[in-house]
Amino acid sequence: MPRFSAPKSFGLLSGLLAATALSITVHAQPRPAVVDPPEPAEVAGHVAKAKQIAGDNPLLSKMARDDYWCMKPSVSSKVVVDALNGAKIHAPGQFFDNLYLLGTTFVGMFVLKTSDGLIAWDALNSDEDMRTIFEPGMKQLGLNPADIKLMIVTHGHFDHFGGAKYMQDKYKTPVALSAVDWDTMLKTPGRANGPTPPARDRVLADGEEIKIGDTTVRVVLTPGHTPGTISSIVNVKDAGQMRTMAMWGGTAFPNTSAAVEQMRQSALKLRDAARAAGAVGILNTHAFFYDMVERKAAQGNGPNPLIIGADATQRTMEIKAECLAAQVAWSKALGR
Ligand SMILES: [Zn+2]
Repeated sequence: MPRFSAPKSFGLLSGLLAATALSITVHAQPRPAVVDPPEPAEVAGHVAKAKQIAGDNPLLSKMARDDYWCMKPSVSSKVVVDALNGAKIHAPGQFFDNLYLLGTTFVGMFVLKTSDGLIAWDALNSDEDMRTIFEPGMKQLGLNPADIKLMIVTHGHFDHFGGAKYMQDKYKTPVALSAVDWDTMLKTPGRANGPTPPARDRVLADGEEIKIGDTTVRVVLTPGHTPGTISSIVNVKDAGQMRTMAMWGGTAFPNTSAAVEQMRQSALKLRDAARAAGAVGILNTHAFFYDMVERKAAQGNGPNPLIIGADATQRTMEIKAECLAAQVAWSKALGR
């Protein structure tokens, strides 16, 4: 698992979503390259179906064709390793009127400004990240970490909970995970070298609604990436208008075919929740999976590119589910 060390010069960053990211040191454990088994018979059909769902939408086509989800194991595993090894700090970015992303090109955290304090999702990799990325970034955004009313940790991997204990200790931030992933945190591979998990605090249940000020977060448990991954349906403001977004909580493929199948079902569950809520876009704290920073940076005077519409939002999750069906077959072929 990754640990990042940020350079002392982070404070020099200027401008939201600046393209000038700084190199940081990555201490990733070397992983052996994945060798592809012969392609299982059912893969081609699922990939073709994913492309069909994408139709002529460029964003969805890329997702179905060459993003990660439908790729063979040697390629998809390299996407993650390359993102990890090439991780750079990006300037804090404003995705919506009241939603900010702080972090690296590999993993970030969202901070949402409600009419009654802040909500955060995830906590980067470590205490050091909080000191060198989060705190300076919040200062740059004019936000106070002490105003975070709830920190939702999407799942119990330490590139998501790394700085949660720091937040508890320094700011008395309430930290929430699913019941299952409070336990997952204690079992994360590489724990010995990883950060100390936060003290057990709030538990979020499937379907729970959290209201803070003018904002409602609906918790959607989407197991697969971890047994207790949390996705969220949340309202944000865009150019003064309330919009609903679906935040997918777990990203990379898990390492058993049973868990990949669970993730496939969870993708459809989030599709259904997005449909019911009228969600018009997807968010993820691994923003590189959806080119979110690049898409937002290219907005110019046009509409917010992170709003893709209800239909494309649901189709995103359907493409993901179709690709995950292909990944179940690959995973079995790898003997997992
Ligand atoms: Zn994870």
